[in-house]
Amino acid sequence: MLISLVVPCYNEQAVIEHFYRRVADHIATAEHTYELLFVDDGSTDGTLPALRRLAETDARVRYLSFSRNFGKEAAMLAGLREATGDAVVLMDADLQHPPELLSRMVSLHRQGFDQVIAQRTRTGDGALRTATARLYYRLVNRFMDVELVDGVGDFRLLSRRAVRAVLRLTESNRFSKGLFAWIGFPSTTLAYENAVREHGSSKWSLTGLFDYGVDGVLSFNTRPLRAALHLGSTLTLGAGLYAVWIIAAVVVGGVDTPGYATLLAAVTALAGVHMVMIAVVGEYVGRIYHEVKRRPHYILKEDHLSARSAPALTSSAGSKGRR
Ligand code: UDP
Ligand code: MG
Repeated sequence: MLISLVVPCYNEQAVIEHFYRRVADHIATAEHTYELLFVDDGSTDGTLPALRRLAETDARVRYLSFSRNFGKEAAMLAGLREATGDAVVLMDADLQHPPELLSRMVSLHRQGFDQVIAQRTRTGDGALRTATARLYYRLVNRFMDVELVDGVGDFRLLSRRAVRAVLRLTESNRFSKGLFAWIGFPSTTLAYENAVREHGSSKWSLTGLFDYGVDGVLSFNTRPLRAALHLGSTLTLGAGLYAVWIIAAVVVGGVDTPGYATLLAAVTALAGVHMVMIAVVGEYVGRIYHEVKRRPHYILKEDHLSARSAPALTSSAGSKGRR
């Protein structure tokens, strides 16, 4: 059995060699063959030269390199497309996903699971990040048709048929956590202690995480539109009742029209509600706009094959006569 490891890398120069050595150590004793497929997501540091070096010295290493930073989702998609293994494992380059879990994942896969999902504990994360994550999952599961679980990320093994299923989902707004949950198949989880990032820094900012969260909800269903509908109908009903009450008060007690403050408050509050609703609709329209353009998810700049056939691109490739 061939296992492909797909590793998205964005400015991971500091850890890439270390990652490779840890993985190589682990798979040296493994019973299956492995291939390592690195996807350089437009790194601006020494990540790409490091990948070139690794691909030159180890035939199991392949890589793709993007023309710019397209995001981790695009990198994972490219890796899944390119991987040839009977099973594919998605892994981060920063060693937060311990390579030592690989053999357990593979053996669970051999027991018949199409998705073996590593679920991490939150040790090593900041308190703020942990709290926001908790809150996020609680909120999001209310709004989504597929269930997301805290601590479950992209570290997972997918069988060949699960990979095929994921690749059939061609949307450009990709939210993997949802896609993986959506395809189904027999799945099992495997707990692991989250390791602290070895070097470099997390690519996530708090606003980045927030946007990702919003993306998750919006790209997966239309329930926010339904929520807007409910809110709108409730407000309309409330306004109707209020109008009836005012008219009744006028009829019974005669004309008395102060209420400037009430009026102003109602107008501004309603304007706010309108804006939020329009924004929700706008988000969906924006998504439709992006989807209909059908742009490719990423642009390739180089891969292990092009580097070998075009030695001018690199300083060291070609000298080993691999053509
Ligand atoms: N990554 C990527 N493209 C990006 C951002 C991140 O390919 O635009 C990769 C990164 O190199 C790492 C993985 O995705 O291998 C996870 O990134 P990070 O460690 O920053 O995220 P965190 O672990 O904090 O969620
Ligand atoms: Mg990380």
